[in-house]
Amino acid sequence: MNTPHSLYGLELDEIQAALGLEKAYQAKQICDWLTKGVTTFSEMTNISKAQRERFTALMGSATSSSVIEKSGDESGALKLGIKTHDGMVIEAVLLTDERGRATACLSSQVGCAQGCSFCKTATMGFERNLEAFEIIEQYVHLQQHSTRTITHLVYMGMGEPMANTTEVLKSIAHFHDPARFNISLRRITVSTCGLISGIERLTRDRLGIKLAVSLVTADNRLRSQIMPVNKRYNIHELKDALIAYQRAVGKRVTIEYCLLGGVNTDEVNAYKLADWLSGLDALVNLIPWNPAEGLPYTTPSEAEIDRFSRLLDTLHITYTRRRSRGQAIDGACGQLAVPLNKGLEYHLLTDDEDD
Ligand code: SF4
Repeated sequence: MNTPHSLYGLELDEIQAALGLEKAYQAKQICDWLTKGVTTFSEMTNISKAQRERFTALMGSATSSSVIEKSGDESGALKLGIKTHDGMVIEAVLLTDERGRATACLSSQVGCAQGCSFCKTATMGFERNLEAFEIIEQYVHLQQHSTRTITHLVYMGMGEPMANTTEVLKSIAHFHDPARFNISLRRITVSTCGLISGIERLTRDRLGIKLAVSLVTADNRLRSQIMPVNKRYNIHELKDALIAYQRAVGKRVTIEYCLLGGVNTDEVNAYKLADWLSGLDALVNLIPWNPAEGLPYTTPSEAEIDRFSRLLDTLHITYTRRRSRGQAIDGACGQLAVPLNKGLEYHLLTDDEDD
């Protein structure tokens, strides 16, 4: 086996082969260190010094990536700039809330090809998919740089997770594995802009994760203007896919509704949303757009948000209103943008009803 970039995401036999270990239990020892977040071989003290030195000479460290920038704010938000083995830069963010949750927002691609017009990441185009180990390492780096224990994961960072389904699902399996990070599937959310092929895959696999969809508007024509994905999969097809998903999985979906000042907050949009939601078990998450330089939108005023919320009340739509966290470090929704390599959209955490 060629020397891998990382030991994360590997099975025990693959670790054994990669490091040329004689005994299987040695791979388990290494794996236990990795799960604790120990990535430097010299710290793996139950392994012989000679072995540790050999591994270090072979790989340097157990991870492929390194943290090159770190910022935080008084809300407890933490943003890391992470350099990949091929010199790309991605970001990962940790947000905490008053309920004690510490949520890691993970990137799934370098850049994004979906072109949503409200999103900073879209402006950088698409570079490449992240491999599962690169997704897992974001979690490891965040945990290493925080005193809080990460409780939730959201695939809402840079990139469209459902355009990189294989590696995303591989990383989820690793996070969930009781012998690894043992994170409940109920605490893992995947957010998509509406790639139906990916939703169908989740429907087939019947994974117990949560699904969030960035809708922005239920006006089909307007959505096509704002989100090019809608020209490929329109809102009717999207709804059908979500109904099929709910039938298979039995889970409520989160509908992310990014509020764009003067664009999708009027009565017509409220009625279209109510109509589109009928027959779906969904929680709407209202997310005021965060200012991002160079994009043609404005953040709605509090009065505008109040007005739209009241409309949703009269239409009996279940929704939550998100307060922005992490703005001071550019780590809020649509704002994770990165002087490093421009742009990282953070669709937003889901304020779901449980966990
Ligand atoms: S909102 Fe999400 S899917 Fe759309 S361009 Fe940004 S990162 Fe890609």
